[in-house]
Amino acid sequence: MKNECDIVKDLLFSYNDGVLSENSKNFVEKHLKTCESCNNVLKEIRQESGEIEQEKEIDAFKGVRKKISKRNVIISVSVIIILIIIIFNVLVFVNYNKMITTMQIILQKDITEEQLEDIENVIRENASEVEIKYLSRDEQLNMMQNWLEEDANILEPYRGSEDNSPFRTILIVNVKDNEDIQKIMEAVKDMPGTYKTFDNIEQNPYLLFLSQILYR
Ligand SMILES: [Zn+2]
Repeated sequence: MKNECDIVKDLLFSYNDGVLSENSKNFVEKHLKTCESCNNVLKEIRQESGEIEQEKEIDAFKGVRKKISKRNVIISVSVIIILIIIIFNVLVFVNYNKMITTMQIILQKDITEEQLEDIENVIRENASEVEIKYLSRDEQLNMMQNWLEEDANILEPYRGSEDNSPFRTILIVNVKDNEDIQKIMEAVKDMPGTYKTFDNIEQNPYLLFLSQILYR
């Protein structure tokens, strides 16, 4: 039997894989019926190949899981970033309107006392609490000269000049309730004596928002 066992053991791997010819298969099975030693070898082969298959499956599964979780992390992070950007933008624009509590009214050069009085009255009618400041031509000239530093004297000829001055008198309007700004803007912009109206819309809303947070 010794010789037959050697042959069968050589064939057992192929037998286990199911690739033997019909004759060889019959030969192996016939031998296995009577030989315990070869049966034990076949058992070992079956165990080992089963474990290898299982490991292969586990490895493949792990790979898929790794890929899925990596993609999920990327998607989640992207979604969070997009959400933060959206929330930031909403916050900026919701708060931006609330922050505007000041506006400027640039007056016509030839505004009359009566027209100025009318404008002031309309401002006060449209605001619950308001503070009106004048920025005269010469005050603006001083500000501009400070900014120009050593070139300041080029503006000196315009001091006190009514007709030549590049500046117009400005009303600076400060309110407590930001909603009053839009009401005043609407009421004042077409009045005689008004040249232009501005609110802080000219400013960058992002910077305004950030400055409110940082310097609160
Ligand atoms: Zn045998």
